[in-house]
Amino acid sequence: MSRPSFARVRATTGSALDGRTIAATIMKQVIPGLWEIDEIGNDVHVYLWEWREGYTLIDTGYPKDAPRILDALVARHIPAHAVRRIIVTHADLDHSGGLAQLKRATQARVVCHTVEKAFLEHPLRRQPAAWLLRAPYLLTTMLPGYTLRPVTPDELVVDGQELPEGFTVVHTPGHTPGHISLLHRGKRFLIAGDALSNRNGKLRTPTRLYTPDTLNAQRSVWKLAKKYGDDFETVVFGHGPAILNNGGKRVKSLASQIFATDV
Ligand SMILES: [Zn+2]
Repeated sequence: MSRPSFARVRATTGSALDGRTIAATIMKQVIPGLWEIDEIGNDVHVYLWEWREGYTLIDTGYPKDAPRILDALVARHIPAHAVRRIIVTHADLDHSGGLAQLKRATQARVVCHTVEKAFLEHPLRRQPAAWLLRAPYLLTTMLPGYTLRPVTPDELVVDGQELPEGFTVVHTPGHTPGHISLLHRGKRFLIAGDALSNRNGKLRTPTRLYTPDTLNAQRSVWKLAKKYGDDFETVVFGHGPAILNNGGKRVKSLASQIFATDV
């Protein structure tokens, strides 16, 4: 469990701690410029990327996570308006849940894949693949802290598009139709979203229970490996710890296993 967010915010104004101590407790740096907002816990990851025009948030956690994400920004002395853009990898409850609140608070431009737009605007269209989970999923979205609110994106992107933050959009459908991963060639890292999972430190395809098109999910792993496997070293995930080194090789080896052929 993460510590209560108010304690972190209060720590920034307390006189007993020096700046360096405080900085070490707020957000987790994955590599220079890329932060994981670990104040929301470990169930799902939200990332903050620092670039020349400000900050970009990648995914937004559950609806209940939005206040903690805002608290973490305050604690790092990042004004809400410095978050210029929010890129959503896909419109699942645990990734786009905080979007409506964070968009309102930051006035950031919301970016998603063209195909995912319909799911951001009509959240209940998204259903788990396993029919047994559909009723519980629907009931969850009615609980306080888990209610999805529709958001209209400001910018729609497609496969291969270069973004101002330095990302290349990689369309990785399967888990959802408009799922995207983000590759930063210059800094050699990949934000996989849920195109890959590293839960419990085991690299694999996304969970079948929530992946309606498993064949396309496998093809997306192949694409990441074959087309981009030499372009990244570090991989971060929606779920599970980051792989800091040899990420491209690990993804290639996963694709080789799935398709029983060398990538
Ligand atoms: Zn997820």
